[in-house]
Amino acid sequence: MVGITEQTAILAKYLDLDQRGKVLAEYVWIDAEGNTRSKCRTLAKKPTAVEDLPEWNFDGSSTGQAPGHDSDVYLRPVAFYQDPFRKGDNVIVLTECWNNDGTPNKFNHRHECAKLMAAHSDEVVWFGLEQEYTLFDQYDNVYAWPQGGFPAPQGPYYCGVGTGKVYARDVIEAHYRACLYAGVAISGINAEVMPSQWEFQVGPCEGIAMGDELWMARYLLQRVAEEFAVKISFHPKPLKGDWNGAGCHTNVSTKNMREAGGMKYIEDALSKLAKRHKEHLALYGADNDMRLTGRHETASMDAFSSGVANRGASVRIPRSVAKEGFGYFEDRRPASNIDPYLVTGIMVETICGAIPD
Ligand code: ADP
Ligand code: MN
Ligand code: MN
Ligand code: MN
Ligand code: MN
Repeated sequence: MVGITEQTAILAKYLDLDQRGKVLAEYVWIDAEGNTRSKCRTLAKKPTAVEDLPEWNFDGSSTGQAPGHDSDVYLRPVAFYQDPFRKGDNVIVLTECWNNDGTPNKFNHRHECAKLMAAHSDEVVWFGLEQEYTLFDQYDNVYAWPQGGFPAPQGPYYCGVGTGKVYARDVIEAHYRACLYAGVAISGINAEVMPSQWEFQVGPCEGIAMGDELWMARYLLQRVAEEFAVKISFHPKPLKGDWNGAGCHTNVSTKNMREAGGMKYIEDALSKLAKRHKEHLALYGADNDMRLTGRHETASMDAFSSGVANRGASVRIPRSVAKEGFGYFEDRRPASNIDPYLVTGIMVETICGAIPD
C-alpha cells in the first residue's frame, strides 16, 4: 500500500505535466435525484464564450433520466466557470439536459425558469440564496459527533468559535476559496445552529443566474468535500429531534423595491405570495413538512405569515429594510434541497405577474 502522502506526491508529478494547449472541460448536469453529475472532455482551445462549448450527451438510462431504448440525453452548455481543481485554462461547464425529440428532459427545470426570467427582465429581479447543509462522515454519522452519542444541546454552535463548538472549518474554507476562484458569486458563510451544519450565501444574482450560480456552488461543495471524505446532505431535516433543520432562505428584490418608496412594492409582493402559499410550498422542497413545524426558527406550513425581523414568519422583512423604507424581503419557507430554478421561477411568476383574486 502506498501511503496518502506518497500518493499525493505521485499525483502532483502528473498534474505538473504540460497539457499541450488542450483544455479540459468538466460538463456538469442535474440528475433525477437533484444531485449533480459530471464528465470530462478535451477541447482544442480555451473557450471565451458559452457558444464555444459543443453540445454533448450522456447515457440517461444510467441516471434514471431516459429509457434504455432511447437513452441519449443531450447536454447543452449554459454557463462556464474556471476550474479550481485543475486550474489553468480548464473549465467547469454547467449544462441543461435535453431529450432526443427536442423537448427539455423531465428534470430540466432551468428551461421554464429562463423563460419566466426573460418575460420579466424589465423588473430586474435580484435573488440571494442562503444554502444550509449538513456534514456527515463516510460512515454516515454526523461529522465529528461523538460515537454513538450526541453533542451538548444547541446553543454554542451558531457562528461558534473554539474546539467543540465548530467543526470542519477547513472544508468550508476550501469551498469558499474554490467558489471565488471559479467566479461564483458567493457572498458569505457561517456555522449553523446544529453542530456540523453550515450555510453559504450566493448573490445577489439577477434572474436565471441565481439558479446557475447556486448549482455550481453545490457542485463545488461536493467536489471539495470528496477530498476530505466528507458527505454533504441537503436534506431539510437530517436529524429528528431537537436539532435545527436546513433551509434555503430566498431573498428577493425588484428594481422598484430597491428604490426609495420600495416598501409599497414589497407589501404588494407579500399579498400576492399570501394568495399562492400552497402552490409555492409544493415547489419548496421534498420533506419540507419535517422542517416547517413552527419550531426551530420556522413558520408552520398551515398559513402564510410575514413580519419585520420575525424569524418565525414565512416571510421576514429585515429590520434595516423596514427602517429605510426600501430593499428586499426574505422568503424563509424554501428547504435546503430545493431546485433553485423552480423557486426563483415561481417567485417571479407570482410577484411580477397579475394574480387573480
Ligand atoms: P440572514 O440574516 O437571513 O442570515 P444572510 O446574510 O445569510 O441573511 O443572507 C442575506 C442574503 O440576502 C445574501 O445572500 C445577499 O446576497 C442577499 N441580498 C442582499 N440584498 C439583496 C437584495 N437587494 N435583493 C436580493 N437579495 C439580496
Ligand atoms: Mn461508454
Ligand atoms: Mn443566513
Ligand atoms: Mn441560516
Ligand atoms: Mn436567512
